[in-house]
Amino acid sequence: MAIPGRPHQPARPTRPGWLPAVDSGRCTGCGWCVAACGLHLLSLEVEQWRKTSTLRDADRCTGCSDCAVTCPFHAIAMRKSRNAEAFDADLRSVNPRGAASP
Ligand code: SF4
Ligand code: SF4
Repeated sequence: MAIPGRPHQPARPTRPGWLPAVDSGRCTGCGWCVAACGLHLLSLEVEQWRKTSTLRDADRCTGCSDCAVTCPFHAIAMRKSRNAEAFDADLRSVNPRGAASP
């Protein structure tokens, strides 16, 4: 999927099983990653008066990493995960404020 504003950049390959983990300590809530995801899987959630990017539908994520490479603050790391449930557990180690899925 092409990144908005970079139409000539080749589509990034999908990597099933890889998911973006947002480090809430680095996330500024700028929303660039939200715009970068062509599947609209990320949204900004307000917790403790701060906006943080949150993955809402891990099962649909292709692992393309468009969101991660777009983040200007290097707040997203792609992580290999066995499934969405395991990813939630992994994410809690990065973002103790909550897991990715509702
Ligand atoms: S692009 Fe990075 S800093 Fe901006 S909302 Fe997404 S994760 Fe947070
Ligand atoms: S890795 Fe997942 S959340 Fe990130 S841009 Fe690709 S499909 Fe969207």
